[in-house]
Amino acid sequence: MNLKGKTAIVTGASRGIGKAIAMALAQKGADIALVATKIETASATAAEVAKLGVKTKAYAVNVADSGAVNSCVEQVMAEFGGVGILVNNAGVTRDNLLMRMSDADWQEVIDVNLKGAFQFLRAVTRPMMKARWGRVINISSVSGITGNPGQVNYAASKAGMIGMTRAAALELAGRGITVNAVAPGFIETDMTKEFEAQKSAICEKIPLARFGQPQDIAAAVAYLASEEAGYVTGQVLIVDGGLSM
Ligand code: NAP
Repeated sequence: MNLKGKTAIVTGASRGIGKAIAMALAQKGADIALVATKIETASATAAEVAKLGVKTKAYAVNVADSGAVNSCVEQVMAEFGGVGILVNNAGVTRDNLLMRMSDADWQEVIDVNLKGAFQFLRAVTRPMMKARWGRVINISSVSGITGNPGQVNYAASKAGMIGMTRAAALELAGRGITVNAVAPGFIETDMTKEFEAQKSAICEKIPLARFGQPQDIAAAVAYLASEEAGYVTGQVLIVDGGLSM
């Protein structure tokens, strides 16, 4: 699974799952363009990735801003000479019960999680089509498959990513581009800190009886980004310790 000579854009790469993905792809030799909203944290992660001996640069981009996304991909093309791998990982939660969910909380989650992924996918499509090679991996969630109370906005955004994955996989298959999704269950990151008090009750429902680590998701992404996964497209790889079985 050698990714030497490939450039990967990883969104939401400053911490958590995105950071683990950036490290895993770099360990396989890929050059990494890291995207996050805060340049300080993204640059700190870029410095760690650079220690693995690959080219790396941090970009401060709000994925919901289409102009910023397009100019980021143009910069990556100019600075890295191409883009072969896109990992749409940036995501937020704004949980609340349906009756209390504000328009703003609905819109922000859709704009970052779903529209942000669409905008990056659209922006990399032309260079990947020209190269006749590409790997797109969208980080969805089991919440988008099974639903989760308090997450109507988040579940809709993550289910939307699965539909987008399949439609894009069909459109791009003829050009050597695969498009897949990874659906994590409960993974230990800043995003799941709020579940700390309920952790043991949640673990009772997980057949593997623990929260996953960011590296568990990164390993699935590294596989889907590889040459060896070239016959896998339009799929959703669930990495949840058996939770959604
Ligand atoms: P996290 O620790 O909260 O990290 C989120 C990352 O996304 C940060 O790097 C953050 O960068 C970036 N980000 C947030 N809003 C952004 C925006 N508008 N534009 C660009 N970057 C933005 O989250 P995580 O747990 O690692 O989750 C990563 C992905 O996995 C998300 O899509 C999440 O929905 C999905 N997921 C997570 C779990 C879980 O249990 N943790 C389960 C299922 C799915 P800044 O710090 O610079 O804002």
